[in-house]
Amino acid sequence: MQYPKNAIGAGGFVAARRTVPEFIPGNAWPKKSSAHNSTIDQPSAVIVGAGIAGIASAIRLAVKGYAVDVYEGNAYPGGKLSSFEINGYRFDAGPSLFTMPQLVDDLFELAGKKPSDYFNYQKLPETCRYFYEDGTRFVADAEPEALARTIEKYLGEPAENVLAHLKNSAVKFEVTEKLFLHRSLHKLGTYFNRDALKGYRNLHKLDAFRSMSAANASRFSDPRVVQLFNRYATYNGSDPYQTPATMNIIPHLEYNIGAFFPKGGMVSITNSLVKLAEDSGVSFHYDSPVERLLTDGKRISGVQVNGNRIKHDVVISNMDVVNTFRKLLPEARQPERVLRQPKSSSALIFYWGIKKRFPELGLHNIFFSQDYPTEFNHIFQQKTIGDDPTVYVNITAKYEPGDAPTNGENWFVMVNAPANDGQDWDALIAKTRQNILTKLSRQLGQNIENLIEAEDTLDPRLIESRTSSSQGALYGNSSNNRFAAFLRHANFSRQFENLYFVGGSVHPGGGVPLCLLSAKIATEMVD
Ligand code: FAD
Repeated sequence: MQYPKNAIGAGGFVAARRTVPEFIPGNAWPKKSSAHNSTIDQPSAVIVGAGIAGIASAIRLAVKGYAVDVYEGNAYPGGKLSSFEINGYRFDAGPSLFTMPQLVDDLFELAGKKPSDYFNYQKLPETCRYFYEDGTRFVADAEPEALARTIEKYLGEPAENVLAHLKNSAVKFEVTEKLFLHRSLHKLGTYFNRDALKGYRNLHKLDAFRSMSAANASRFSDPRVVQLFNRYATYNGSDPYQTPATMNIIPHLEYNIGAFFPKGGMVSITNSLVKLAEDSGVSFHYDSPVERLLTDGKRISGVQVNGNRIKHDVVISNMDVVNTFRKLLPEARQPERVLRQPKSSSALIFYWGIKKRFPELGLHNIFFSQDYPTEFNHIFQQKTIGDDPTVYVNITAKYEPGDAPTNGENWFVMVNAPANDGQDWDALIAKTRQNILTKLSRQLGQNIENLIEAEDTLDPRLIESRTSSSQGALYGNSSNNRFAAFLRHANFSRQFENLYFVGGSVHPGGGVPLCLLSAKIATEMVD
C-alpha cells in the first residue's frame, strides 16, 4: 500500500492535496470578499492551520453557512495527526491512542452524513501490554472487571481497589464533563446554570488538593499499580507527582468508555474529516503559512498569506496561541500571564521498521522505568531525559498488516521528554536511542538494533518547527497545578471581537478529543 509521505515525522514533504486561491498581490484587498468563492451575502471565515481542531472548526462553520478557507503552512493536513511512510513501513506521526470516537462521528452527523461512509473504527479488546523491570508482564483487558482480575492475578492488588478507582474516575468525569469540557471557562454563563450548580455540589469529588500520585498511593498497596495509574498523567503531558488527583479522570476514557483503533490508522481521522470538510464546501490551501493577522480597531480584518492580504469576517486560529500572539499579532497586547505558563511535556520518537514479528507485543506496549519519580524529576525539574525512561511502543501493523512488509512490524517508539528549552538534543537523542535499545533488547531477548531496517526520528525541536507548537509541547500548557485549566487561553479573544482560538494550546486542552471539543466551543460562539 502506498501512502503519501506527509507527516511531521517525515524528513521531506509531498503535498497531499493542494488548492491555490487567487490572491491579489500588494496591499490592495482582493476584489472578492475572500479567497473563497463566497456569495456577496455569505459570511466568510478563515482558519489558520489544518490541525485536527482547525479541520473540525472548518466543518462546523461550513455547516453554519460560512464560506470557509483553511490556510495551512505545511503541504499536508493534520499537523501532529499525520502519517508518513519509509521503505514500505507506514507510521502515524503523532497520536496513537484514540478515545471518545463519538466526537468524530458527531461531525459527520452534524453535516448530515453517515459516519461509516467516511470513517470506521473498532473497540480494542485490550488496552495495553505492560512490561515491568522486575520481569512482570501482562495484558491489560479493556473491560474493567477483567482488568481488575488480571491486576489481582499478576500484581496481587485486590480487584475491588481497581474497580473502585475506575468508578471514582467515572464520577470525576461526570462532574467535569458538562462544566469544563463542553463550555468556555471564560464566560459567566458557564457558572450559572443547572449543570454548574450540580457540579459545585460535587466539586470535592475532583480531589484537587493532592497529587495524582498521592491519591493513587493511598488507594493501591502495590507500587506497580500506583505506577500503572500514575501513567495517565502523561496523557496530557503532566507529572503525576504534581498534577492534581483530578486527573484521575483520564482512565475513565480508556476503560469505561473504551480505547479504539481507526481503520487505516490514526491518520484516517484527519483524512476522513478533510474529505468531509471538502464535501461541505471548505477550501484548503496548503504551503500557505499565515504571516500576520491584520487588525482594524477591535476587529481582525483579514490575514496576510505569502505577502497577500485576504479579507474575512471571522478568524479562527488553530496555531498555538503563544505563537498566534507573538508572531501573527506582535503589536497587539500580549496576554503574558497565560502565554508564559509552563509547558506540558514533549516527546522523543523513533520510527523503526523492524524486520521481524513479535507475537508478545500488541498495538500499545509499555516498558516501565524502574524509578518513576526520578523519571519525572528528570523531565520536569532537570528538563532532560534520564537513562531509564519508560518506553512506549505502538505497532499499528497488529491491526493493519499492510502498514509493514510481510514478517515486519512498524514500531513507533516514544519516550516522554521535556519541552524544548534549547537542550543539546542531538546528544540526548543519541544517548536515549542507546538506552532504549538496551532496555528493549533485554526485555524481549533479541538484539533490536540488528532488526531495524528503516528509521526516522522526531524530537521537540521538529515538533515545534513543523506544527508551530510553542517549545514543541504536545499538549500546550502543563496541567501540573490545580489552576491550570483556568490558565489556558479562552476560545475567544477579549481584544478582537471576531477572533477565536482552537486546538491543544487553549481550553479545554490537548489531545484529539479535547481539540475536537475546542472547535465545538469556539464555533458555537461565532454568531
Ligand atoms: P496541531 O496538530 O498542533 O496542528 C496545528 C496546525 O496548524 C499545523 O498543521 C501547523 O502547520 C498549522 N499552522 C500553525 N501555524 C500556522 C500558520 N501561521 N499558518 C498556517 N498554518 C499554521 N493525542 C491523543 O489524543 N492521543 C495520543 O495518543 C496522542 N499522542 C501524541 C503523540 C505525539 C508524538 C504528539 C506530537 C501528540 C500526541 N497527542 C495525542 C496530542 C495530539 O496530537 C494533539 O493534541 C492534537 O493533534 C493537536 O491538534 P491541534 O488542532 O492543536 O493542531
